[in-house]
Amino acid sequence: MSNFKPVKLTPAFKDYLWGGTRLRDDFKKPCDFDKIAESWELSCHKDGQSVIATGEDKGLTLTQFIEKYGKSAVLGSDCDKFENFPILIKLIDAKDNLSVQVHPDNEYAQRVEGEYGKTEMWYVVDCDEGATLLYGFKDKISKEEFKERIENNTLLEVTNAVPVKKGDVFFIQAGTLHAIGKGILIAEIQQNSNTTYRIYDYGRVGKDGKTRELHIDKALDVTELAPAKSYPETPVEQKDGYTQKLLSSCEYFSTYVLDIDTEAELVADEKSFNSILVLEGTPDVGGVETIKGDSVFIPASTGKYAIKGKSKVILTKV
Ligand SMILES: [Zn+2]
Repeated sequence: MSNFKPVKLTPAFKDYLWGGTRLRDDFKKPCDFDKIAESWELSCHKDGQSVIATGEDKGLTLTQFIEKYGKSAVLGSDCDKFENFPILIKLIDAKDNLSVQVHPDNEYAQRVEGEYGKTEMWYVVDCDEGATLLYGFKDKISKEEFKERIENNTLLEVTNAVPVKKGDVFFIQAGTLHAIGKGILIAEIQQNSNTTYRIYDYGRVGKDGKTRELHIDKALDVTELAPAKSYPETPVEQKDGYTQKLLSSCEYFSTYVLDIDTEAELVADEKSFNSILVLEGTPDVGGVETIKGDSVFIPASTGKYAIKGKSKVILTKV
């Protein structure tokens, strides 16, 4: 095993027009934007990097940290097949509705955008009473009807609005039409990509007084014209001091929710780094003090580490 230790990360922030202030007010995020739409809690993306916040490498971006110690050593052997850092983890505070959007799969994205496509997963951290999100279509629909409904503004009549509650999980395979609804705070685990095709934006204008660009033709190319495919239900596993439930697993990430009663002993082996996102409580994560919303990166080959204290966390590995 290596000399690596878990490190806390400072996120990058985004002030998109639909954001709120809960990431500062409830989660104590150090950001003074008027609106904080997103905090990128585990990110090597060029549009917003996580920065090491603890230990001797404090101040390095996660990308610099990986360059310093070597990709295979830090990320683990299961990441050797990926050219770039494979995932991106965000907290998203939707004070208002997000645009209706879709992401392409790898094949399309690499051909057309020179980037990865995007499969993503949402965990509802908190939400207002009656909040809904948009997840695929109610029924199968033809491309012609999809196009027509975009043009005459009746798309929302055929999309699937799902009421949500805390703890709900949505698996959004590339090609699934989706939108986070207002009043929802979500943890998003996704493939490391920023390619989004916006289809409908409620006619809103941005800070510059203009409507945001739509990408109808590309969306028509990639959208799955059918109800969304959810991830099969998985059992809750009882472990020593905590329970663990797999939320979803795909080629790029496996994500679990852990309900820790006393302590969870975990291992970051040589195959993959671990990422811990704290949802509730103030646990000690491998020697790092945390509050809810904090993100801890555990390099591959760190070996055993413990999460101590009553808490709920999301664990992600490749
Ligand atoms: Zn999305």
